[in-house]
Order: sequence, then C-alpha cells, then structure tokens
Amino acid sequence: MTTVYTIEDLQKAVSISKNEGKTIGFVPTMGALHEGHISLVKKCCEQNDICVVSIFVNPTQFNNQADLEKYPRTIEQDTKILEKAGAAIVFVPSVEEIYPEPDMRQFDFGQLDKVMEGKFRPGHFNGVAQVVSRLFDIVKPDRAYFGEKDFQQLAIIRQMVRQCNIPVEIVPMPIRREESGLAMSSRNQRLNDEEKSEAVNIYRVLSESKKLYKYKAVEEIREKVIDDINKIGSLKVEYFEIVDGNTLQQITNWSETDYAVGCITVFCGDIRLIDNIVY
Ligand code: AMP
Repeated sequence: MTTVYTIEDLQKAVSISKNEGKTIGFVPTMGALHEGHISLVKKCCEQNDICVVSIFVNPTQFNNQADLEKYPRTIEQDTKILEKAGAAIVFVPSVEEIYPEPDMRQFDFGQLDKVMEGKFRPGHFNGVAQVVSRLFDIVKPDRAYFGEKDFQQLAIIRQMVRQCNIPVEIVPMPIRREESGLAMSSRNQRLNDEEKSEAVNIYRVLSESKKLYKYKAVEEIREKVIDDINKIGSLKVEYFEIVDGNTLQQITNWSETDYAVGCITVFCGDIRLIDNIVY
C-alpha cells in the first residue's frame, strides 16, 4: 500500500494502473475509520483492480467550527486498518492541496438539499459536492462507494454525477451497525459509556416503528418515534422525517411510495448522530 499526500503523486500512482488497463475503485472518507468504512473498502477491492481511499476532513462541509475541530483524527491507525483491508493507495491531502484557492462553486440540487440535513446544516451538501467532485476529478475512478447511513448524501452525490455527467458508477453500501444496533460512526468515539447505552435506543425505536408502520398513519409513526427517543436520557431528536427514498420529500400516506425511508438526527449530549430505516 502506498500513502500519497499530493495530487501529483496520487495521479502518478493511479496512472500506472490505468495504463495497464486496471479498474480504479474509490472510497472517500474523513478518516477515524471503523467497520462501516472498511465494508466499503472491502467491496471496492472485490470489484476493482485498484482501491484508492482518501482521508480528508473537508472544512467546507462543516458549518460548525467546533465540530470541525473536534472531529476525530486517527491517521496512523487508519493507515494500518486500510493496509489490512487491501487498499492499494491512500490519499491524505492537505486543505491547501484540495483548495489552493477558495472553492466558490454553488451547486443546485433543487429540493434534494432543502430538507433534513440540508435544512439543519446550511451549506453542508454544497461543501460535500465541492470536495467529492474535486476528488472525482483528481482520482477519476471507475466506481465510487458511499454508505447508506448518509442517506441524503448518497442522493446528492447521485444527482451531482448526473448533473455534471461524471463518468463514475456510484455503488451504495448498507449501514454497518454495532451488535447493539447503533449505526457505526466516527462520532461514536466521542460518546461515553452512558451516552452509548442511550444511543442504542435510536435504532431500537426505529426498528420498532418498522414493525408497527403497516397499522398506523405516517404522522402517528413520526410522532411516536420522536416521543419515544426524546424520553431517553440526554437524547434529543433534531428531526425525524419519513420521506420518499428517491425524492427525499416527506410523505403523508404510505401509499405515496413503495420506498419510504425514515431519516433521523439525534443529539446525544452534544454529539450529533444520524441513522435511517427503510420501511
Ligand atoms: P465519513 O468518513 O463519515 O465521511 O464516511 C465515509 C463513507 O463511509 C461515507 O460514504 C459514509 O456513508 C460511509 N459510512 C460511514 N459510516 C458507515 C456505516 N456505519 N455503514 C456503512 N457506511 C458508512
């Protein structure tokens, strides 16, 4: 495995493989890697000759400076994990390497980024689109891997690829969970034991709502999930919306779609956790 820090070195490393006709798979990450990331890396290694992983904590997608500063950074451990998982190239650029000058591009995702994460984190998806489009342009992968945990992000990336005609196949990957059901996340590292035991209730309540949903109206399920989670310790739901999984617009009736997804964000103390469930 090679670790590269500059675009020039990355492109040198990738072009050798491209010239040999090898396929390039790409997994963009912000590091602090866990089994969720590794499931993407393993799939990427399976489906491509070369797996490139980037580790870059992208400042333009953070709308909260403290969150950016507190984001866990565990680069040495990450590199070891990636080597074991089979990655060929790890790209660890500096902020200056990715943004030699400020990125002023404004993407228009229509209604897709007006709801949920887009509504509560203004500018977040514009920052995600800036960095992912830039990384795609640098790596020029055949396939790129994204987790369904960041459900709205996946929809935005797909839209960006369509809008900008980027020749890459987007491969979605299922949410990896702890045994307790808690969705794996780099932010989980910041939870203490008590918070962790509270946070497992997010998926428990979502799963219960899936058992019930056929018998209840959308709004009833929505309210029940919010109430049940808010009853637990320090948990505070920021939003829970039941949406059409393609348009991300709220539904009011289950018959409106055959792809209903419940998307949630919960504060556990000051740590913001996201999860979702397909009904
Ligand atoms: P991040 O480092 O948080 O930007 O995540 C990098 C990629 O890993 C994104 O495509 C995420 O959706 C994905 N990912 C993060 N957590 C999980 C998880 N628990 N299961 C599957 N994919 C995940």
